[in-house]
Amino acid sequence: MTTPLHHAVIAAMARTIVDHADELTLLDQAIGDGDHGLNMRRGFEAVLADLDGLAAKPLPDALKSVGTTLVMRVGGASGPLFGTLFMTLARDLPAEPTLDEVASALDKAVAAVQARGKSEPGQKTMLDVLVPVQRTLAAGGADLARRLPAAAEEAARATVPMRAIRGRASFLGARSVGHMDPGARSAALLVTAACRVLEGVEA
Ligand code: ADP
Ligand code: MG
Repeated sequence: MTTPLHHAVIAAMARTIVDHADELTLLDQAIGDGDHGLNMRRGFEAVLADLDGLAAKPLPDALKSVGTTLVMRVGGASGPLFGTLFMTLARDLPAEPTLDEVASALDKAVAAVQARGKSEPGQKTMLDVLVPVQRTLAAGGADLARRLPAAAEEAARATVPMRAIRGRASFLGARSVGHMDPGARSAALLVTAACRVLEGVEA
């Protein structure tokens, strides 16, 4: 990925979170404490404020900065988890990764989120989007930049009938059923935004 490209991907991810903050807040009001939109907006506004600085860095350093900013600025349960995702990606990605290298780095990054959250897919969290997205990416094939957003959005919708086993929503028990998980929605927004930018440059 060239410098202008990772600038565009990071900018698109940050802007989609800022644009959907109210929706994320509504989702968290239903099964959490209603701060997810605010948390994520605060973190990604800080990312946007440093876009030029990020663009000047090689991809791994830029992702590391994003991760650090998210840990420091998002807060809640999701800040350290999304922060871990970006920081682990940063550790494993070369400056100009191939698709296989992205799939492998995302595999490690998702495993790091699982370890940090003591969670696994099926528990109504961001992992219910991150895990299927990583699998779709690793399986490869044509049209990935179009298929990944579809997979991410379907995976976020699939959290609606789930009962939360981790995070604040788990306090609701059976009453968490029937609502989309806010962190899963955020993860799908990030994937969709990144793919929209990458669609035109897919190898
Ligand atoms: P908080 O729950 O502290 O208010 P947020 O509202 O910002 O934090 O984030 C909630 C989201 O974080 C959930 O929707 C879920 O996707 C994710 N989450 C919470 N706990 C975990 C966990 N243990 N593992 C993975 N994801 C989690
Ligand atoms: Mg919350």
